[in-house]
Amino acid sequence: MPAQAPAVTVPHGMETCPFCRIREGTLPAHVLYQDEEVLAFLDIYPCAQGHTLVVPRRHAASLAECPPATVAALFHAAVRLAGAIQEGLGAPGFNLGVNDGRAAGQEVPHVHVHVIPRYGGEGGGVQRVVKTRGPVQPLAETAAKILAALRR
Ligand SMILES: [Zn+2]
Repeated sequence: MPAQAPAVTVPHGMETCPFCRIREGTLPAHVLYQDEEVLAFLDIYPCAQGHTLVVPRRHAASLAECPPATVAALFHAAVRLAGAIQEGLGAPGFNLGVNDGRAAGQEVPHVHVHVIPRYGGEGGGVQRVVKTRGPVQPLAETAAKILAALRR
């Protein structure tokens, strides 16, 4: 009888997660920055020159799964990188965005903050990522529902 291989516990999704593979060095990427919390690299399907993704080193599907220090590190790195991208590539603006959840258009189930440099004239903006607007509810009702959830 062959010896059993030792059990290896791999968190769900990590074995094929492209961003975990970039962190491990088994998938090549143009890495721009890394520290103990985060890693940043160029998006291989850029919306604009310099489009960069900032990801937590630890696999997490959504921002809610990340400890506050990781969330802070993600956005700190994103803002710092945005400045370098603007300076290095001559972009006068940038968009920051997170597609959190399949309903929001998330394609890779490892949290990533998009830093998209803007050169002017492309149109768009984060208010326009939603292509069709649903019915508009009274703002007071909407606020009451969110406030109730915040208190839980
Ligand atoms: Zn991952």
